[in-house]
Amino acid sequence: MYYLHLFDPWNFPLCTCPQKYSIDPYTGCEHRCIYCYITSYIPDPWKVREKKDFLRKIERDLKKAPKLPVSMSNSSDPYPKIEKEKRITRGTLELLKRHGFPVLILTKSDLVTRDADILSSMPSVVSITITTLDENLARKLEPMAPPPEMRIKAIEKLKEKEIKVAVRIDPIIPGINDLQTDLRNLVKVLSSIGVDQIISSTYKAKGDNFKRVAGVFKEKAEYLSKIYYEKNEMVRGIRYAPRELRYKLLKRVRSLADEYDIPFSVCREGLPLNSAKTCDGSHMLTAKYD
Ligand code: SF4
Repeated sequence: MYYLHLFDPWNFPLCTCPQKYSIDPYTGCEHRCIYCYITSYIPDPWKVREKKDFLRKIERDLKKAPKLPVSMSNSSDPYPKIEKEKRITRGTLELLKRHGFPVLILTKSDLVTRDADILSSMPSVVSITITTLDENLARKLEPMAPPPEMRIKAIEKLKEKEIKVAVRIDPIIPGINDLQTDLRNLVKVLSSIGVDQIISSTYKAKGDNFKRVAGVFKEKAEYLSKIYYEKNEMVRGIRYAPRELRYKLLKRVRSLADEYDIPFSVCREGLPLNSAKTCDGSHMLTAKYD
C-alpha cells in the first residue's frame, strides 16, 4: 500500500474505533491549533504540502484493499486553503465513491460544503470540530482555523443535503473551555441545527503542545501543570488528566447531549459514557453501505 493504512496501527489501548483506514491527502496543517499533537511527529507541521502522485497511488491502493470505511484526515485537515485549487480531497472522494468505500471526514473547514454533492451521494459522515462558540477563545485555541460561526453555517449546509454530521467538542481543556454555561449553549445550538452525534474528549499533553497551551493561557499554566505533570495518568507516553476529572468533564457533556437527545461518545478516554453506537459515528454509514 502507498497511502492507505489501517487506522491506529499502534493499537492504542483506549481506542474504541471500529476497523477503518486512515488517509491524509495533504501533509501538515495550517490551522495551528495550540493543542495539536502532530507537532510531535510531523516535520514542519504547519506547512501544508501535497503528497507525490497521491490520486494515482491511492487508486492503486483502493483496487487492492478490502472494503472498510476510510477516515480522512487524522493528522491534517483534508480541506486546507490550497484544496480550493488543487482539489485532491475532492478527487479522493470521487475515487472512494467509485470503488465503494464509505468515508468519515474530519475537518474544521467550511470548504467541506463544496463537496456536499459527492458526500450526499455516498455513505459519509462529516465530523466538524467545535471547541467553543466564543470567537475570541477559538482564535486563541485554533488561530488559523475558520471561526466557529463559519463551522456552524457549514453544518447547516451539510444538513440541508441530509448528510450525517457529528460535532467533535474536542479537546476540552480543563479551566479553558469547560464552562457549563458555554457547553450548554454549544450543545443547544448543535441540537437546533440537527447534529447527529457529539464526540468529545479531554486535552492530552503530548510532545510540545503543553508549552503552547501554557504559553497562551499563562494564568492557567500552574493549574494545568498540576493536572498534567503531577496528578496525571500516563497512557503510552501521553499525559492524560486524572480519570476523575476527565469523567466529571465528559459526564457534563454527556448529560447535555442526553438533555438535547443527541447520541454521545468519548474518544480515547476509556470511560463508560457512550450512548452512540460507535465512538466515531461510523454506524451512520451503514444506511447506504450495503
Ligand atoms: S486541525 Fe487537527 S491537525 Fe490541524 S492543527 Fe488543528 S489539531 Fe492539528
